[in-house]
Amino acid sequence: GLVHPARLFGTARENARGWDLSDESVLAEIDRARAVAIPDARPLTLSEPGGKTRPVTNPATGETVATVTEADPETVARALDDARPWSAPAAERAAVLRRAADLYEAQYGAFFAILGREAGKTLPDAVGELREAVDFLRYYAQQGEDDPRPPRGLFTAISPWNFPLAIFTGQIAAALMAGNGVLAKPAEQTPLVAFRAVELLHEAGVPREALQLLPGRGSTVGAALTADPRVAGVVFTGSTDTAKRIARSMADHLEPGTPLIAETGGLNAMIVDSTALPEQAVRDIVASSFQSAGQRCSALRCLYLQEDSAPHVLDMLKGAMDELALGDPWHIATDVGPVIDAEACNEISDYIAKKSNAVLHRLATPETGTFVAPTLLKVSGINDLEREIFGPVLHVATFRARDLQKIVAQINARGFGLTFGLHSRIDDRVQTVSEAVHVGNIYVNRNQIGAVVGSQPFGGEGLSGTGPKAGGPLYLDRFFAPEPGFAEAERF
Ligand code: GLU
Repeated sequence: GLVHPARLFGTARENARGWDLSDESVLAEIDRARAVAIPDARPLTLSEPGGKTRPVTNPATGETVATVTEADPETVARALDDARPWSAPAAERAAVLRRAADLYEAQYGAFFAILGREAGKTLPDAVGELREAVDFLRYYAQQGEDDPRPPRGLFTAISPWNFPLAIFTGQIAAALMAGNGVLAKPAEQTPLVAFRAVELLHEAGVPREALQLLPGRGSTVGAALTADPRVAGVVFTGSTDTAKRIARSMADHLEPGTPLIAETGGLNAMIVDSTALPEQAVRDIVASSFQSAGQRCSALRCLYLQEDSAPHVLDMLKGAMDELALGDPWHIATDVGPVIDAEACNEISDYIAKKSNAVLHRLATPETGTFVAPTLLKVSGINDLEREIFGPVLHVATFRARDLQKIVAQINARGFGLTFGLHSRIDDRVQTVSEAVHVGNIYVNRNQIGAVVGSQPFGGEGLSGTGPKAGGPLYLDRFFAPEPGFAEAERF
């Protein structure tokens, strides 16, 4: 569709300022929030919900944080009956989303507490996540406030545990801003933060029939919400395999042309040549691979070091890894928290155990909790990676300058296309490699995580997703009904 230039280039807009973790009053608020019990979660539907209740556990300690009641099939069916698009004018919807952004910010202590305990987020990660959630609310409000287009109808929003507030909120905010009704299914591991978020969205003024929360399994709740003919669109972030399953279900049950907006996995590489500044490269490698315990789809998985400088960079990298503090995500000094649950921990640990001959460096693992120690594994290139390992495991290869083109071709041939990092001070090389690599987000001489809403639209191609990019000017378009007569217009 046509995008107004003001929406492409933006008018005055500000990202959330965030919270300073060295500020006494912020720390006092976090301490206060730490002492408050986290409320149990349940479906937030118009009709009385029903379902089984189970505990939600803290991955760092195994303790029960609170409980969640998961929606049973009748609850999902009634939610679909009750769901309605949001008929308020666009300007009013924008005002409500902005009010929600303010409520989110005011509740930062409670959000950090839930993100830390339910999702194992470190404090700096929790700050980043809340900022991103708030940015999505304000950004889509601004993008859509003057847009009179009608919505598609009802959207199903299925979100991941690794950004259980930011991506959860971003999907919902976009669908609501375009006037759709939303049925939101949070990840099984992280219903508590989703529950708090939807309560605040309702408090801000989102009508309950336009936003219902349905916690539960992908195989039951998710399956029902992607197979009902009343659903006019699905927005999903998660694994490539689940995206394929959703696409198959949609093909079988929904109208042709129903959009699936999917953001999925990655097999992300970084190339560091011998002109790069080693100190900067090492800092960016550590952040890209080990921040959030490597549980970002943007995270660096395969590092290529140019042969002549590789021994030096690798030594520095090992030294920097030794400085990482693993442990209680709520401790201000912690750099790497737990992985999300025991299943993930076992899977990643088994993978490392099978590759024990290739281990170049590995930290010690805390005795309790689902921790995986940051690990370097030697490989000859990206073709040695069997699949995306969603944790703090970095594969390292060396290369010769003359093989650069071949390496880029191999990266492209794997079919993923999410992020790519390049450290080099040769301008020509930066240009040629950036043009040759097929990914959504390219980062030069910096880390390759933490895309910022409004400045770095985030999303991939190929096996990494369908686009449009989240937090970018083209995202909202997919949530509106297609223009009447759009099929004919295609002929021009
Ligand atoms: N947008 C996030 C980033 O740039 C990654 C999102 C994800 O892991 O799904 O780090």
